[in-house]
Formats: sequence, C-alpha cells, structure tokens
Amino acid sequence: MPVFFLVALTGALLYGVHLFLNDAIGKALENHARMDAMAWAEGFQASLPANADSLLTGNALSAQQSEVINAAISFANAYAFNVYDAEGRIQYTADDGVLENSENYPVNETAAQVAASDSPQVVVIERSNRRGGVDVFVDAYVPAKHASGETLGVIHLYLDKSDIAAPYKELLEWVGSILPIVFALVYALPTLAYVWKREETFSQKEHLRKASRQDALTGALNRQTLNAEIHARFSDRTQYNEIGIFFLDVDKFKYINDLHGHEFGDAFLSHIASLLVSQTRSGDLVGRMGGDEFVIAMPNASEADLAQIGDRILAGARQPFTYRGTTIQASVSIGQYLAGAQSDTQQSLHAADLALYHAKSLGRNNRQPYFRELDVAMLRRREVERRIREVVSKSEFDIHYQPLVAQHSRAIVGFEALLRINDNCGKRISPSEFIPVAEEAGLIQDLGRQMFSKAITAAKQWPEDIGLSINLSPAQFKSGDMDEMVEHMLTEHDFPASRLELEITESLLISDEECVSNQLVALKRLGISIAMDDFGTGYSSLGYLWKYDFDKLKIDRVFLEGFDFDNARYREIIETIVTLGGKLGLKVTVEGVESQRHAELLDQLACDQYQGYFFGRPVPADGALQMLLQERKGQRA
Ligand code: C2E
Ligand code: MG
Ligand code: MG
Repeated sequence: MPVFFLVALTGALLYGVHLFLNDAIGKALENHARMDAMAWAEGFQASLPANADSLLTGNALSAQQSEVINAAISFANAYAFNVYDAEGRIQYTADDGVLENSENYPVNETAAQVAASDSPQVVVIERSNRRGGVDVFVDAYVPAKHASGETLGVIHLYLDKSDIAAPYKELLEWVGSILPIVFALVYALPTLAYVWKREETFSQKEHLRKASRQDALTGALNRQTLNAEIHARFSDRTQYNEIGIFFLDVDKFKYINDLHGHEFGDAFLSHIASLLVSQTRSGDLVGRMGGDEFVIAMPNASEADLAQIGDRILAGARQPFTYRGTTIQASVSIGQYLAGAQSDTQQSLHAADLALYHAKSLGRNNRQPYFRELDVAMLRRREVERRIREVVSKSEFDIHYQPLVAQHSRAIVGFEALLRINDNCGKRISPSEFIPVAEEAGLIQDLGRQMFSKAITAAKQWPEDIGLSINLSPAQFKSGDMDEMVEHMLTEHDFPASRLELEITESLLISDEECVSNQLVALKRLGISIAMDDFGTGYSSLGYLWKYDFDKLKIDRVFLEGFDFDNARYREIIETIVTLGGKLGLKVTVEGVESQRHAELLDQLACDQYQGYFFGRPVPADGALQMLLQERKGQRA
C-alpha cells in the first residue's frame, strides 16, 4: 500500500514538473522568437536602401528594394512576408509583390491592432512533423516605423524557428530523463528506504507478536495465549453458545522421548500439533499447555462435531510417524467436555482434564467425555496422593504378611509382604488403589525402599527356611538400579538372597524390555528368585516365561473364583497352567485358595504351593510370627 502510494505520488510529481518545464520552455521559445522577429524586422527596415515608406504606402519597389526584401526573406527563412499599412490593409506580399487596389482586401484585424498599439504580437506554433519531431513556427506582427518614430504599418512574418526550438526541446527531453533519476536519488530512494525500514519494523513486530503468542516448538498457541483466547470466547456467550474442549495427551510420550531421543520427541510433538490444526475447523483454537499436553477449544461445536473431530484425531495419531529413518506408531488420549452456557473457563478445562485422566486409566488411545462422578474420583485420587506423601514422609505404613504353604505338607514355606495404608480416618486404602497413585505421583520408589527395609527386618525374625516375597511394580524399575538397591538392602540387613523372592507382573516386561531385562538378570545373579505374579490375567506370554528364566509362576485367583460354579472348565485351565509350569521347570503357586473344597480339588494337580484365606489371611508382622510359632509348636507336639 505505501509503495503504491509512493509510485502514484512520484508519477504525479514528475508530470507536474514536466508541465512546468514545458510551459517555461514554451515561454522562453516565444520570447526568443519575438526578439528574433523584432530584430529581423528592425534590421530589415534599416537595410532597405530608401525609406520603407514607399513599400508601406503602396508605391512600386525599386529593383534594389526588391533584392533586399528577397535576401531578407531567404535569410530569415520566412514562409510568408506581408506588409500592411497602419489601417491593417495589405500592401505587399512576398509572392505577389506590391498589390494594387489594396483597398479591395479586407482589413487584417491583428495588423490593425499591432499598428494601433505599436506593440508586436508574436504567436509560437508547434506542429509534429513526419520525422517524429516537432517544427516550431513563429507568426509575428511587428510595427514598422518611420525614421521619425511614426508607425507606418505592420510587417507580418511567418518564420520557421525549428532550429532554435531544437535545443529547448532537447533540454526538455534531457531534463525529462534526468529528473526521475534526480528525483529517485533525492526523494524516492530515501522514501523507499524509509518505507522498507518501516515495513521491516512492522514485520519484525508482527513476528514478535506471533512469537509471543505461539509455542516455539510446535507453532500451536502457547498456554498463556490459549487461556486468554478461550477466556475471551467464554466471555462472549451471545456469540458462542456451546464450546467444546479437548484435553489431549500423547500416550507414553516419555517412553518415546527416552527411547528415540529428544529431537525425535520434538519432531513428534510438532507432527501432532499439525495434525490437530489440520483436523479442526477454522476458528477452533489449538494450543500446547506444555510437555505433551494439548488443548483444543471449539466454539459452537455440537456433540456430533466433537465425536467426528476427536475420532479423526485419534485415527491420525495412530498413523505411523517417521523421522530421520525411525518410524513409530503412537497414539493419543482425549478428554472431552462440551461447555454449556453456564460453564466457565476454568471449570470446563478442569472437566476435560478429568475426562482425559479417565481415558488414560481406561488403557489410553481413546476419547472419553466428562461425567460428574469423575470429580469425586479425582478428589479421592488427590486425597490418596496426599496421604501417601504423608505416609512416606513419616514411614507410617504397615505391612501384612500372608503365608504361602506347601501343597502336600501344608507347612508355611514363606510369606508375601503386602503393603497396608489407612486413610486419616483409619480406613484401609486398597493397594490396587494406592499403588497406581504412588506410581503416577513418583512416590513408589521411596515407598518401595522403605517397605523393603521393613519387610526384611520382619523376616529376620523368622526361621531361616522361611522365605519372603515382595511385590515390585514396573515403575520401581524405571530408575534402572533395582538390582543395586536390592543388593544394598540385603547387605545392610545381612539377609540371604536365597530367602528373597520378587514378584513381578507381565506389564513390567511389556513396558521396556531391555532396561528391565538387564536388571532382572542382575537380580537373578544375586541368587534371588523371581516369580511371575497374577499369571493368566494378562498376555500370559510363554515367551516371557522362557526368556526371563522365571523361578515361579503364581496363578491368579480369578481362576479359583470360577472354580465354584464352572468346575470342569476352570479345572482344565488351571491344570493346563500347572502342567505348563511343571514342563518349564517352574514352581507353581495357586493364589486365592479360600476353602477346603478349593484345596481338595487342587490337591489332584501337581502344584507346589497354595496361598489364600483358607491357609491364612495377610496379618501384621507379629501375627505372622505367631503363626510360625504355632505351626512349629504343633509339629513338636
Ligand atoms: P498380589 O500380589 O496378587 O497379592 C495378593 C492379593 O490377593 C492381596 O491383595 C491379598 O490380600 C489377596 N488375597 C490373598 N489371598 C486371597 C484370597 O483367598 N481371596 C481373595 N479374595 N484375595 C486374596 P492386596 O493385599 O489387596 O494386594 C493387591 C495387590 O496389590 C497385590 O496383588 C499386589 O499386586 C499389590 N501390592 C500389594 N502390596 C504391594 C507392594 O508392597 N508393592 C507393590 N508393588 N505392589 C503391592
Ligand atoms: Mg503378589
Ligand atoms: Mg497375585
């Protein structure tokens, strides 16, 4: 726009200067021609041998006079040469000589006027010629005076002045061509520089403005801008009735980052941001809240819109992503909330966040809408987390020990240590509730370490042939030094590795095989036995059993729960797993033995150990000791 204005202004200025110069040159040319014509007329008069009187009064010319006139005409390059008397009547023309009966010719008004006013009248006429140039003629009426000063008549000349006009025209052309350059140097260039500088400053400002709004890595709106923009939509509910919110998170992003490096992780986040922008509508807001978390706000979206957009995003995120030769297949989880007229910004974002949490707890790679109970669940989760922090800082937890008995002798061979945490009202929080919370809150390492120490201290009270089983969750292997921690504990408490058994689940092996495998090998090398817990509920992969050289297989109690009502079928499954364990050289423990009937049925199979309420519930450390003492007393009796 400013450049267009500048070009227009320059054009107008140049045109103005051209007009001015043309006018000035025209005037100079006219002056020049007038002076020339006057000088010529005066010279002509003076050069006539006798007075010009005779010529102006209609007398015949002498031969000498005619000669002078002809010479003067050719010298002046005159096309016409006429002489008028003081009344403006023609007396003489170059072509016809002295005219007789001149009173028959009409009065030439111009000539009469010039004679009366005693001042010359000169008109400059320009005509384009065939050569593409311009011819300049001068039509001049000049008073002719008697030696006494009296005006006798008027001499009319029509002169060709193209020769004197040429330098003026050249000057005009030269000025015309040089002027734009001068103009450019003096005015246009500085102006252009100014305009350019201004544009540059403007674009820099624009760039800064955008940068301050955008997330530098992904180009999505940054957290601050997103919050402000969402708030603006929420403040204008006349225009935006319903606003859809997605809270979105890349599944296992940390794992992607750790495995493929931060550069890969960054590229993947940018890829996800582009996917979100491409799958949303114009007017929707896509922002990055930080880390691998994105938020999308969709003004005036319906439930159907959310379903469509959300499913497209899920499908897009599942597509293989390749960066520098490495390809991964990832996924995202989406929490969804459709804010009605009564909802405010914070509450809506919070609701979508809760829904996201729910989507993740349901196994990720899915989209979940918000529902009211999620608020209660979240409050509970916060409360549990707060309690675990408290428990860890004060080492305020208990451990209960549940006996493992040998199949045939029913003798206690060991105890499984099970964590017990109560809430502030003294009510038990189930491990299946607090363990995942401790894992997510990053508290499981500390909790696990303290638990280990306490359990070993308790086990040291038991006879030396009684083993101790401790559960380990996948998160405890993340730091990569589980083997060192366990070795340190054993040394510190002087507890033999052969009495320790660690129970892990299949999910550990699925999470990150290589890192876990190294730690498991190191643990086994210490002489510790490893048990596969809850077998039959997950993938039940024979590959894992074989690969990691497990010592024991614990069949999950769900199979015994079915034992009561679908005897034959469950029996076959348990029998198959028991046979499998035996073939692989593993000890087999059956969990959840709750009744005499369970025990009798299982006695027909070649198991090794039982665990369940029928043989003993989890009890505090002194209860476990009591159990052992009683058993030994019974044996002696
Ligand atoms: P798990 O390792 O399979 O532990 C056995 C669970 O089954 C225990 O539940 C135990 O109380 C229960 N149980 C034992 N016998 C019977 C029975 O006959 N009938 C029924 N219905 N249940 C029986 P608990 O103590 O609630 O523990 C649940 C899970 O929490 C454990 O399953 C284990 O995976 C985890 N867990 C417990 N303590 C710890 C711990 O210190 N660290 C880790 N990482 N996980 C733990
Ligand atoms: Mg266990
Ligand atoms: Mg178990």
